[in-house]
Amino acid sequence: LSFEQLGLIEPLLKALDNEGYTAPTPIQQQAIPHVLDTRDLLGCAQTGTGKTAAFAIPLLQLMHQDQQAQQRKGLRNIKALILTPTRELAIQIQESFTAYGKFLDLKSLVIFGGVSQHPQTEALKKGVDILIATPGRLLDLISQNYITLRDIKYFVLDEADRMLDMGFVHDVQRVIVKLPEQRQSLFFSATMPPEIQTLAKAILRNNPAKVEV
Ligand code: AMP
Repeated sequence: LSFEQLGLIEPLLKALDNEGYTAPTPIQQQAIPHVLDTRDLLGCAQTGTGKTAAFAIPLLQLMHQDQQAQQRKGLRNIKALILTPTRELAIQIQESFTAYGKFLDLKSLVIFGGVSQHPQTEALKKGVDILIATPGRLLDLISQNYITLRDIKYFVLDEADRMLDMGFVHDVQRVIVKLPEQRQSLFFSATMPPEIQTLAKAILRNNPAKVEV
């Protein structure tokens, strides 16, 4: 199966070609059609399988289509939230969104703790479509009213099992309750122990698509 056969739009195909990606990986082949169908997704996949692109590529396509359908062009508001446990992963995910979205008009921003919040809040004020965040800094900036999750339409929880290992489950739960009920959610974890299944159930709508590599 090729990226063309997955139904991707030209600006994405061109960006993937620029990246030197010749064919989708197994997780991408399985996940991309479900995400484009706007289904919720439970993905069991490790880092290194191409799972970032498995969610980033179809989300960029859906968001571009939303943008085309939208008449009103105001300030950008956050419509996609990617929650990930570490700064390193957050940075990598944002680099991926930037690379795949280079021929689209969608702005992404990465925020994480352990650094001054000022550059992050200044960037937020300019308007962001896609926010990639670690849980603690996200909650900090929400409590200071720099961020609202009220317009989130797409939510990704990345590396759920590592979130649990790092003690972030409570923070993740605090984020989830702030999300709109009407949204598409994608949940990724390398392992699926009972606690992770419980967390997945709390996040995903009934009958999510399941992919495993
Ligand atoms: P990830 O599992 O998301 O951490 O991705 C692992 C690595 O695979 C990253 O360096 C990606 O740039 C690369 N990658 C992802 N998808 C593809 C693809 N379809 N073809 C070639 N490389 C890819």
